[in-house]
Amino acid sequence: MRCRIISIFSIPLKSLHDAYEIRRRILSLLHKHKPGKTLKVIVGGAGPNGTEIAAELAATVDAAVRRGLLKEGAMSVVLLDAAPSVLMMLPKRLRQCAERQLQHIGVKLVLGRVLSSVNGTHVLVANNPGQGTPASEPSGMPYDVCIWSGGITMSDVVRALPFAHDPKGRLPVDGALRIEGEDDVYAIGDCAASRNPFTHAPDPQTAQVAVIQAKVVAENIIASLTGESLKTFPYPKKWPIFVTLGGKNACGMIGPFLVSGYLGYVLRRLIDLHYFVEVLSLPDAVQFWRRGVDVYAKNEEGE
Ligand SMILES: Cc1cc2nc3c(=O)[nH]c(=O)nc-3n(C[C@H](O)[C@H](O)[C@H](O)COP(=O)(O)OP(=O)(O)OC[C@H]3O[C@@H](n4cnc5c(N)ncnc54)[C@H](O)[C@@H]3O)c2cc1C
Repeated sequence: MRCRIISIFSIPLKSLHDAYEIRRRILSLLHKHKPGKTLKVIVGGAGPNGTEIAAELAATVDAAVRRGLLKEGAMSVVLLDAAPSVLMMLPKRLRQCAERQLQHIGVKLVLGRVLSSVNGTHVLVANNPGQGTPASEPSGMPYDVCIWSGGITMSDVVRALPFAHDPKGRLPVDGALRIEGEDDVYAIGDCAASRNPFTHAPDPQTAQVAVIQAKVVAENIIASLTGESLKTFPYPKKWPIFVTLGGKNACGMIGPFLVSGYLGYVLRRLIDLHYFVEVLSLPDAVQFWRRGVDVYAKNEEGE
């Protein structure tokens, strides 16, 4: 019910179509913008997607103001989450780095507050009692555009499969990516709940993980037909993780090393290029990658 109420008035962020819709709505409101009025954007959910879109919006507006394309205060961006920090699933140093950069580019962080519903004009938020604060009555935050990025829910098809599910509806798998208790049924990508044997943390739901898992399962299907032993998913001790934080800025960690700013951005783009080369032909991969680089460059210029 809560998600339904949220989804009527807010724009989800799951697909390219959603991204175009967010862009269309914000641009059309900015065109109608009256002097002295602030366009209020609220992003609900400070996971990687919510954090990245809040940062891109704020950085683009910041650059547009500096170039005189928009008036100071034309748009405000609030990033809201029930957790006490953004990117709660990531290492503390990375979270702190991201929060500093978000505040630097003007994103207002509203943390430890639960978004309970959205009506036509206001987002209703209350304290998150789980975070040590006393429960509170919901209060309203006015908004013009609300973007809902509170996590991906598992599809009904996966939920209906006659296997065990974890609390998120994903399918627990063993090291060879077989669904637990099954000899010849595999799960990969976002629907698979694989755990890193070193950290015991669930593997991230990313394209990089899905592509590696696909290769392992393809080899395991052949191995099971030829009677060879199955391959195990090659878990790294830690996944390198990078979050883009507005234009040509990113924070990330490679092992114990924190990388931020322009160097972080370059590494993040190289990770993207590596991924595109794995799943596309080289010319298509480069073309796709160039398009992404151009978008971040435009955001950096406030276009
Ligand atoms: C906004 C956003 C940004 C992201 N950014 C990044 C990023 O920067 N880097 C990164 O690594 N990951 C990113 N991810 C995560 C990444 O997209 C996923 O982890 C990855 O796509 C998982 O691959 P998958 O094949 O498991 O699922 P999907 O890519 O979702 O593919 C599932 C496919 O199954 C189809 N399908 C579903 N149900 C049915 C059905 N009943 N019948 C037939 N077909 C069906 C769907 O249409 C879809 O094509 C992002 C995700 C989102 C939503």
